[in-house]
Amino acid sequence: MLRSHTCGELRIDDANKEVTLCGWVQKVRDKGSVIWVDLRDRTGITQLIFEEGSTEEELLKSAARLGREYVIRAKGLVVERHSKNDKIPTGDIEIKVSSLDVLNASKTPPFTIEDDSDGGEDLRMKYRYLDIRRNTVRQKIELRHKMMRETRKYLDAHEFTEVETPVLIKSTPEGARDFVVPSRLNPGQFYALPQSPQTFKQLLMVAGLDRYFQIVKCFRDEDFRADRQPEFTQIDCEMSFVEREDILSTFEGLIHHLFREVRGIEIGEIERMSYEDAMRLYGSDKPDTRFDMKFTELNDLAQGKGFNVFDSAELVVGICAPGCADYSRKQLDALTDYVKRPQIGAKGLVYIKCNPDGTYKSSVDKFYSQDDLGEWANKLDAEPGDLLLILSGDKDHTRRALNELRLHMGNELGLRDKNSFKALWVLDFPLLEWDEETNRYHAMHHPFTSPRPEDRDKLFDNPGAVRANAYDLVINGMEAGGGSIRIHDRELQKEMFKLLGFTDDEAQEQFGFLMDAFEFGAPPHGGIAFGFDRLCALFGGSESIRDYIAFPKNNAGRDVMIDTPSVISEDQLKELGLGIRD
Ligand code: ASP
Repeated sequence: MLRSHTCGELRIDDANKEVTLCGWVQKVRDKGSVIWVDLRDRTGITQLIFEEGSTEEELLKSAARLGREYVIRAKGLVVERHSKNDKIPTGDIEIKVSSLDVLNASKTPPFTIEDDSDGGEDLRMKYRYLDIRRNTVRQKIELRHKMMRETRKYLDAHEFTEVETPVLIKSTPEGARDFVVPSRLNPGQFYALPQSPQTFKQLLMVAGLDRYFQIVKCFRDEDFRADRQPEFTQIDCEMSFVEREDILSTFEGLIHHLFREVRGIEIGEIERMSYEDAMRLYGSDKPDTRFDMKFTELNDLAQGKGFNVFDSAELVVGICAPGCADYSRKQLDALTDYVKRPQIGAKGLVYIKCNPDGTYKSSVDKFYSQDDLGEWANKLDAEPGDLLLILSGDKDHTRRALNELRLHMGNELGLRDKNSFKALWVLDFPLLEWDEETNRYHAMHHPFTSPRPEDRDKLFDNPGAVRANAYDLVINGMEAGGGSIRIHDRELQKEMFKLLGFTDDEAQEQFGFLMDAFEFGAPPHGGIAFGFDRLCALFGGSESIRDYIAFPKNNAGRDVMIDTPSVISEDQLKELGLGIRD
């Protein structure tokens, strides 16, 4: 080894030891007769000291020539510091250097390598290897490592076998576009990169592997959206001879294990809620249940009193914002503007202040008496001092808008603490979703999801009403994972493809391999996949998944460090049978 110790480990008990440290120069403070150098590696910072009189002149001169981010090796004696630094664990000591090697010089870095860097996102991504030298970034990568380690530990202890599935495959329908790779040896033919290993993990169940997992890269060519990565990582799992309950309890165990081992916390029981209730009570299939503020439907009380906006609405629905009756005109206008933004698209916002003296003040006083408003307040469980916020219109749209408003109020009221965690299973999603544009059904999860056994009969007369044997795990309003009990019967799978608008030939061509396999003794099976990058970000208390990926792509899908996507040569194109660029 080039070093005897790391830069984070020496303490006062090590005084008088002769040590050799290696690392990067974080900072040089040159007072002429004394030079201090902060030497950094991933474990911490140790101060080096060079002093006129006791340090040889040549050595002092070399120390004066050091620049930021030089890589050096310093040998010397551990001594007690005169002025101690209680902000760092090595702050009681310093190294009186007796020899110094510059292992590599460095250009001045384009941004400061400190916790609070002055570098903008683009610059930091271009020099990501310098960005990762910063503690705050490196710690996120280390957290990811711990998450992987603990995931493997838990699943291994539960008899899951980790299996790698291929990356050059053919399309898997997870609802996005495929990235494709041209095959040089088969001109005009392409592989697709997996959107998930879905079909392979099911085949591994047919193969009798019983319990599979993989921490696996998946690829989805989606339109650019904030914080989406075209390649991302899943914890992908599948189990045989199980029912929904077995999957839920096995993976509740995983989530508890991760919180316990990585964050040192117990998140308590994981509640369950049907999709229908989630939509009715929160207007979202991934509600943030860290705070209450559930929806209350008010059609029965609000309609028929002459207020046309409510009378003509399919849904009148409100939330109760605790303690907000003292909101000013300006604050209420800001809320109205918020819901009227085009992304949310509500036409207006009705408010009722439940005054501390028991009276009500609303924006619809003209149409409703104090008694009417009192009934609303009752239904919403409001206390004096609370504020009711009400939206109306068509059901889906209004629920979606009120969901946004609820989350906004949750933020305003500080109810969405990133260090508190609430997990929830959302169950019984619809199996199919009607797509107005293409005029046909889409699988809400994917086409391999089975219907709930009691709904199977409806598959042909009322497919829209069939519930899926599927589940999502939602944590703090974020979809952390999702899966389903699968179809394992060829006939049912064939019916499913038919419902989704595939002809028999198309289904056979694309998924014949899976349906064929179902004829050779496919066991009942089901599984789940977790979005690993997102889970890491959640555990780290961050909004951005990019921070938890060593070399992420930007919002436009580019890697600005290696500068890709990029053009390839005409020779390469020709070789791939892709023709010549004009
Ligand atoms: N393959 C699914 C997905 O990527 C997860 C699953 O059904 O297991 O969302």
